This record gives sequence, structure tokens and C-alpha cells, in this order.
Amino acid sequence: PVPPEGSEANRQSYASTLVDQLRANDYRLEEGRVTLVMARMFGFCWGVDKAVEIVQDALAAFPNRQIWLVNQMIHNPAVNQDLISRGIKFIKGTYSDGQGFAAVSKDDVAIIPAFSSAVEEILELEKIGCEVIDTTCPWVLKPHLRTKRNIEAGFTTLIHATLGHDETRATCSLITHEKGKYLVVRDLDETQLVIDFIRGANTAEDLMKALGNAASPDFDPEKDLTQVALINQTTMLASESREIGKRVQDVMIERYGEDAIKEHFRDFDTICNATQDNQDAMLNLVDKENLDLMIVVGGFESSNTKNLARIAWKKVPTYHIEDSNDLSPDQVRHLPVDSYESVTSQDWLRSEGPLCVGFTAGASTPDTKLAEVIAKVTELAGESLSPTK
Ligand code: SF4
Repeated sequence: PVPPEGSEANRQSYASTLVDQLRANDYRLEEGRVTLVMARMFGFCWGVDKAVEIVQDALAAFPNRQIWLVNQMIHNPAVNQDLISRGIKFIKGTYSDGQGFAAVSKDDVAIIPAFSSAVEEILELEKIGCEVIDTTCPWVLKPHLRTKRNIEAGFTTLIHATLGHDETRATCSLITHEKGKYLVVRDLDETQLVIDFIRGANTAEDLMKALGNAASPDFDPEKDLTQVALINQTTMLASESREIGKRVQDVMIERYGEDAIKEHFRDFDTICNATQDNQDAMLNLVDKENLDLMIVVGGFESSNTKNLARIAWKKVPTYHIEDSNDLSPDQVRHLPVDSYESVTSQDWLRSEGPLCVGFTAGASTPDTKLAEVIAKVTELAGESLSPTK
């Protein structure tokens, strides 16, 4: 059930006047030697916006009941901390106190995040009998529905995704629950292992040695890779997902022939519109503007933010940071592309001469956090935003 509407003030708490002004000013500001340029699409997507709104409505509607999130609401530390400060608790994940479902009572309210939750977790909530509010994004539900049809037709699901990401955990759990099989590939290199197996260039044992931890229980490559349906986590790099689809289709044609391809391969592009729009805007920005550096703001666990940085770094020095605290005059803490650990780099900001800095933010980054970063970069460059900005 969807709770009654909450206050507009709550809903607006992640908006920023500075970012709104940048939007109104053709996504650009000039302050002394510094030019600040924004990607034309960035930040909170429709699904996150809606989920945040529902959570805030729940806070207003159930002031005397404990509200739980099954897991991280979205991959943004500031938003999750903000929810904790408003009394929300987390059942699982980074922000949980470790008690899990044992701490939830039937008088409580539990919220399923935008990424969705594993089937076992949803069943656990049903068993407890608490009020359940589902904020699963429709873009996440779409591949779930398609996957059920593919399983009925006997297809194994090949998922282009980050293993362990909440959305992918939910998808894998659904497939197992529906008695289907899955294999997760992170990138083109891992896909090549699958292609080599289908082509007969490596053995089932080799494949399982490399990707066994990314496969469903009892996965048998000989049997389970004869009919393959490809989907992708909604926030992957769209160009990479399409290339994976093309290469897997090619090898299936090579193996089974063009006439039989429909019986052996299905492809369903499940990148969401918001991800696609933000990636297109990122590419457009680094292609068209003569940037000295690019700042990408978003949680280090955020898949869509990482992929924005992957697009930018090929063309311009790029720093994926979580918030303005990562920036100081001499150094920046950031997550390098394709890395799991943040690092600190020196001399990231030129101290003299004209400076053109690009900005974007992941789908789980509120405008308030982006605005703090823009203001800090301007200040560290020795300029200040004029009062109207
Ligand atoms: S990034 Fe896409 S799939 Fe994820 S919550 Fe936003 S709109 Fe939904």
C-alpha cells in the first residue's frame, strides 16, 4: 500500500538553488578564471526520486511506528545517513546493526528499496506480517517480468551486471526461485570466457573455475548454455551491454546457424532511460567542451555513477568522488575507474590560469551534494560564487 502524501518541505530537502540556477543558465557558470559546466542530464532519476518521495511519505504517515529499509535505499551515503537521522533503520547491509529480520516486529513498516529485494527477504517480511511498502523502480521490474517468460521457454539468463549489486542479487534470487539458471558477466573479458566455451575453445571446467561464483547453483555449462537470454543490470554501460549482446549472438549463430538463432539466443535491452540519458549527456559534455577536468559525484558503490566516470576518463582527467569532503587544495580522494578501492591523488587542481571544470552526478546523488562540490571546487580555485548564484 502507498501511504498518504507527506509534506512538500520534506520532498524538497534534496533540491539546490545553485544547481537549479545552473540548469536555468544553460548548464554553465563563469566565475573569474573558472568555468563550471554541467552535463545536461544528471542526478536523481525518476526511480530514485519516487522512492525518496515514498519513504518521506511513510515517515509522515507512520510517525509512531518503526520504519525499516530492507537494505540501502540508494547507493548514496549522505541520503542513507539522512534517513537514519530521521529514525529509519536498516535490516541488512552496510547500515544494519546486524540483527537482521529478528529485530522487525509485525507492528513495524518495512520498505523495499528501488533496487528491489531478494525473494527470500520479501517472504520473510510476509512471515513477520508487518506493513510492506514496495518502492521497486518499474525499470527494475521490467527485466524481471521478461526473465520469467524466458525461464518458462527454457532459457538460461546471462546477466551483464556487477555481482553482488543489490539489483542483481534480487534478479538472481528471482531466477533461482523460478527454478531458472543464471550466469553473471561483469564485462567483455568475462563474456569472452562464455563465448570461448560455446565455441569449444575452453572446457566447462575452465569456465566454472573462472565464473563459478557468478553462476546459479548446479550450473552446468554443457546443458545451461545452449539457450541463452541476455539481460543487463539497469545501470550498466549501455555501449558495453550492446557489444556483449552482439558478440553472444554471433557465437550462437556460429554454433547453431542463423535459422535456429531464435531458439538459442534472446536479447532484451534493460538499461533504463535515466541511465541512458545520463550516459549520453556525459559523452556529449566531454566531446563538446574543452574540459581541464571532470568531477563525477556519487557513492562509490553506485554502479551508474561508476559508469559515468568510465565514459569521461577516456577523454579528460576524471575524479569520481562521494562528496565535497573528498576535496582539498592539494589532494582529492576518488575512486579510479574499474577499481574497488578509493585512492588519494595530488595536484588535481591547477592553481593558475583559466580552468574549465565539468560536473555530473549519479542517479542517487541529491542536488544538494552536487552543489556542495561545485561550491568547494570554485572556492579551491580561488574564486567565489556571487550571491545570486
Ligand atoms: S537508475 Fe533507472 S532503474 Fe535505477 S532507480 Fe533510477 S530509473 Fe530506476
